[in-house]
Amino acid sequence: MAANCIFCKIIKGDIPSMKLFESEKTLAFLDINPLSYGHALIIPKHHGAKLHEIPPEHLTELLPVASRIASALGCENYNILQNNGRLAHQEVDHVHFHVIPKPNETEGLGIGWPQQ
Ligand code: IMP
Repeated sequence: MAANCIFCKIIKGDIPSMKLFESEKTLAFLDINPLSYGHALIIPKHHGAKLHEIPPEHLTELLPVASRIASALGCENYNILQNNGRLAHQEVDHVHFHVIPKPNETEGLGIGWPQQ
């Protein structure tokens, strides 16, 4: 845990979040400033700013959870995004994968949220 890390505070429960999944090593929650309905973040509970700083055993669930969330959203079009460093547009220095749905007017999200 890092004292000033916003995602570590979410893991600890000091900052509220809309949780989608939680296990011993992994947490998934909705992005506070979503690019589309259902925009989710998946993070390792082990703190590290960049992907290569995280021990591999803390990375194993991240893509399977991203896949499950994408499936649960029922959206056929989506991006998986993971930024490392300021030049790569990373804003929060705790590793995270984005799941960003790209719904169109004929696709449902399967979770009862409004269409864009
Ligand atoms: P980055 O640019 O890949 O670092 O993305 C960071 C993401 O974290 C952005 O999409 C933010 O909207 C999101 N974010 C920042 N603070 C919070 C929060 O407190 N709860 C949920 N998402 C957050």
